[in-house]
Amino acid sequence: MRTLVTGGAGFLGSHLCERLIQEGHHVICMDNLITGDLNNVAHLFGHERFRFIKHDVTEYIFVEGKLDTILHFASPASPIDYLELPIQTLKVGSLGTHKALGLAKEKKARFLLASTSEVYGDPLVHPQPEEYFGNVSPIGPRGVYDEAKRFAEAMVMAYRRYHGVDTRIARIFNTYGPRMRLHDGRVVPGFLGQALRGEDLTVFGDGSQTRSFCYVSDLIDGIYRLLLSQETDPVNIGNPAEMTVLEFAQVIMRITGSKSRIVYRSLPQDDPKVRQPDISKAKRILGWEPKVPLEEGIRETMKFFKQQLNINDRGVAQPG
Ligand code: UDP
Repeated sequence: MRTLVTGGAGFLGSHLCERLIQEGHHVICMDNLITGDLNNVAHLFGHERFRFIKHDVTEYIFVEGKLDTILHFASPASPIDYLELPIQTLKVGSLGTHKALGLAKEKKARFLLASTSEVYGDPLVHPQPEEYFGNVSPIGPRGVYDEAKRFAEAMVMAYRRYHGVDTRIARIFNTYGPRMRLHDGRVVPGFLGQALRGEDLTVFGDGSQTRSFCYVSDLIDGIYRLLLSQETDPVNIGNPAEMTVLEFAQVIMRITGSKSRIVYRSLPQDDPKVRQPDISKAKRILGWEPKVPLEEGIRETMKFFKQQLNINDRGVAQPG
């Protein structure tokens, strides 16, 4: 199998490249490194079945030789990134998906889109099943991501119906783990970074909004199963264990043993009040559900952030 992963140097993309190599694929990792980082795939360089191409997928994509699979994971994916990179976010979801689908059609490759729970917006149905159409503001700050991914799903379905491309759509819910960027403003690296640096934990709003956090190895396993399945409609992949953001802050304080305080900051515009995947479909069709408990996943992630911050296990910062 020869597989292209767009966004392959990103958080999810890099874990996916690793899993595909373990499964025996030849992997072409493509990334323009705007939010991706070569450090995420540094350990794969030199592997005989791994190749990296620096390219912006909103431009025509050329890959020599056959391709069996394309996994389209290129996109900024954190609210702070959409604010900083709104046009790139729109372009990669729309133009980038178009280019990647064109390549899939040309190569007769199976195509999997990394879509998102953001297609449900600030949901009025809870938990969110795949049939829910969502409650999205096209003109708010998140619109650039939400609408790009909604457009991407529409484009995937059009290529499926009109060109017969073999497609899959994964709707990915909040996922965390090693290789998340410490400074991307998301809640997991946000709180963990603050706790490890001894800073206050910044809860946005009153912290009553909910999220459901999935550990990266579980997520990748769900994606891989979806890729191998025959399911062509969207499938939610995420962990249904829901909690409030305030509860999550308390979990982080306990696990890190932090003496930090919790401080409150204003809630960003259009911040979804609830989010929890209904994963009945993934359970039924893929025989998949998440296995890694929150505490275990957070400990693994904490180890990674400690290395990034040069903190040893006694909590002492190392020089350099
Ligand atoms: N959040 C927070 N403090 C932070 C960062 C995020 O309270 O320092 C909240 C944010 O307002 C949202 C939730 O945590 O309600 C998850 O935010 P994240 O940016 O991780 O992603 P989202 O699920 O909103 O896309």
